[in-house]
Amino acid sequence: AKAVRLDKLLANLGYGSRREIQALARMGEIRLDGEGLSDAGARITLAPDLPGRLTVEGEPIDPLPGLCLMLHKPVGVTCSHKEAGPLVYGLLPERWRRREPPLSTVGRLDKDTSGLLLLTDDGSLLHRIISPKANVAKRYQVTLARALDGSEEAALASGTLMLDGEDRPLLPVAMEAQDATHCAVTLTEGRYHQVRRMFAALGNHVEALHRDRVGGLDLPADLPAGDFRILAEPDISALF
Ligand code: URA
Repeated sequence: AKAVRLDKLLANLGYGSRREIQALARMGEIRLDGEGLSDAGARITLAPDLPGRLTVEGEPIDPLPGLCLMLHKPVGVTCSHKEAGPLVYGLLPERWRRREPPLSTVGRLDKDTSGLLLLTDDGSLLHRIISPKANVAKRYQVTLARALDGSEEAALASGTLMLDGEDRPLLPVAMEAQDATHCAVTLTEGRYHQVRRMFAALGNHVEALHRDRVGGLDLPADLPAGDFRILAEPDISALF
């Protein structure tokens, strides 16, 4: 495993400046296996068990870089600074917003869309998930303004549906109707506002949109809106 300077590690986890971390170390507030580390310049091996062994002010340190989370995004928070409103990052612990490398969302959900949103600080994992080649399927539960007329499933499956303003048809989308105004759609592309624009192209209107699955990973029923969970390796493998 890689070794890094203690002050750099903790500064990148958002615990403060290198100088502030040096002061904590001198005060005996940084401990490894219970032993005070007074030298903030000491090199620390980034073993997977380090967060359980290294404490700052008596608390185990935050997860090491290479972090991947699932967040149950509520309606009303945004994934991007370009939209108005509170950001999804505000739902994470305050210190995590100062992490380096930063956590970023894996793709985006609209402000008005709820559900499963992944965040990671691992650029190669991010690209692996969003790459068109990876073909990771995303499933959405859709509430419509008008009743389905029975033509939608075939239109979406055809691979010929065009969105307004685009010159290339959508790849086939699987649709399952639940009742007159509810259905699930599964897509592998992620075009801008795709689900809303898809149903607009079919003469309908999306009233509510909720993503409940990405790849083989389901949003857990016991994860309330606004809460998140750290993903372990088996969850990440389930994405592909
Ligand atoms: N399609 C949309 O229209 N919005 C989303 O947030 C995701 C997919």
